[in-house]
Amino acid sequence: MKNLHGKALLVDPAQTKSTAFTREERENFGLRGLLPYEVASIYKQIDRVLGSMRSKTSAIEKYIFLNALLERNQRLFYRTMIDHIEEIMPLVYTPTVGEACKEFAHIFRKPQGFYITPEDRGEIATILRNWPEDDIRVIVVTDGERILGLGDLGANGMGIPIGKIALYVACAGINPAQCMPVMLDVGTNNVSLREDPLYLGYPYPRISGVAYRSLVDEFINAVQLRFPYALIQFEDFLTPHAFEFLDRYGLQVRCFNDDIQGTAAVTLAGIYTSCRITGKKFADLQIMFLGAGSAASGTAELLVDAFCSVGLNKSQAQKRLWFIDRKGLVTAANENIKPRILPFAHKHVACSFVDAIENIKPDVLIGATGVAGTFNETVVRKMATVNERPVIIALSNPTSHTECTAEQAYQWSDGRVIFASGSPFGEVQYGDKLFKPAQGNNAYIFPGIGLGVYASAARFVTQKMFLAAAKVLAGIVTGQEIAAGAIYPTLPRVRKASHAIAVAVCEVAIAEGLSDANLPEDLNSYIKSLMYEPNY
Ligand code: NAD
Repeated sequence: MKNLHGKALLVDPAQTKSTAFTREERENFGLRGLLPYEVASIYKQIDRVLGSMRSKTSAIEKYIFLNALLERNQRLFYRTMIDHIEEIMPLVYTPTVGEACKEFAHIFRKPQGFYITPEDRGEIATILRNWPEDDIRVIVVTDGERILGLGDLGANGMGIPIGKIALYVACAGINPAQCMPVMLDVGTNNVSLREDPLYLGYPYPRISGVAYRSLVDEFINAVQLRFPYALIQFEDFLTPHAFEFLDRYGLQVRCFNDDIQGTAAVTLAGIYTSCRITGKKFADLQIMFLGAGSAASGTAELLVDAFCSVGLNKSQAQKRLWFIDRKGLVTAANENIKPRILPFAHKHVACSFVDAIENIKPDVLIGATGVAGTFNETVVRKMATVNERPVIIALSNPTSHTECTAEQAYQWSDGRVIFASGSPFGEVQYGDKLFKPAQGNNAYIFPGIGLGVYASAARFVTQKMFLAAAKVLAGIVTGQEIAAGAIYPTLPRVRKASHAIAVAVCEVAIAEGLSDANLPEDLNSYIKSLMYEPNY
């Protein structure tokens, strides 16, 4: 860290304490006269932050305020976020980040992150040297083509890597100086964005085919040269690209795709926990998906591994999983089945979604469509007819796109549903019971994976790591949380979850011979020592 003095120290976001500089520090660092008299504690500063933030009337204004705080005083931002994570995470990430991305070009204040466009072809390794830090350990990269459930937002999608990096720091304690948000700005096919006079991105249609793939290749190779220990997290790519890049780079470099693998692990964790409530054996479950994109097919693939880990063979495991598309049950007789869904297209009579629930009696229903209202009253009631305690996981984001709301799920199942969702919902009173529905938030998984990969310097990120992460996460849900209807820990315990996941990831990395680090025996303490604590 640079030795700063006077005004330069006061305005440096990583080093400033603002009004918390002590009298002695004010004397030693040439700060006398530059600050009001009072020496505040970080907690007093947090009170001031919360007061100002809460006085804003809309979520987007709160987002802008918090982003400005991050740019002004990093430690104060992260301390506030960690200590008030339930209030702040939905403002920094989903659902507010969706709105922030749509408005990105209009609310832009200060450049954050790194932008690569087709004009940088052949020079990506050179321009990466412009990034001021050398020891980058986590990169979150998107090309903005499928932002949440909102579609092609072009360079406006930069809000997503910025938000995910904030979650890495707050939820797992990766040092902010070791994180880098990246936008592969290859154009946008969203005409209204290109026509927006304030749009900040590369204002041309997306490049595609060889031109697109070779640019991604160049980026991946350039990262290996400039930041050889960086973990690359692919984020919000169009589903075919998401799978293609995972297949292409997964065994070449340290990378993973959160929409596919992070979602899979958090969903699996929820299913593991649900078995603690229903008393059903995981190995006996039948699971049904609505939607066949990155989230659903990634989850199905991890579920196959999970079933195999409890004794089923691959074909038996695949037979436990069923897919519904817009026309109803996906069966072996369907035409044009996506290759990744093919193993789950079983022999069965063609039938509607509701009839498929009646016939197959799934224990768990997972929605990953991005389409609001697809779990309607008939669907939820049918799940509640074939199960004493139906498990319904409505993953779609943002909140306006959810398959059903928490309130609908409890009401239509007469309070019997075990419910989780992608977007956060508040408490629901049903009869004399107060439910606290849990959010199947990827933030329970990917920060811990990142921390574990960082600690172990694992060369690749494997499915076994995600399987281990899901088991660990389910294992730390308490009886009290379960009693309130939750299948995930409460958010204030997310750092604990990340720490435990990181330990498990290190163990997998060692067992799989992937760790390049000289790890001490006491992984618990070692990983704790790596975690950034934003204190003065
Ligand atoms: P995707 O675009 O890859 O897949 C969506 C799939 O749903 C497609 O296969 C599409 O054909 C299908 N679909 C759309 N409408 C349908 C309908 N009426 N009936 C049946 N199928 C339908 O998107 P994705 O990456 O898989 O994400 C899906 C949703 O899940 C998004 O809203 C995303 O934000 C959300 N998600 C949430 C989490 C989380 O909260 N943990 C994680 C990942 C994704």
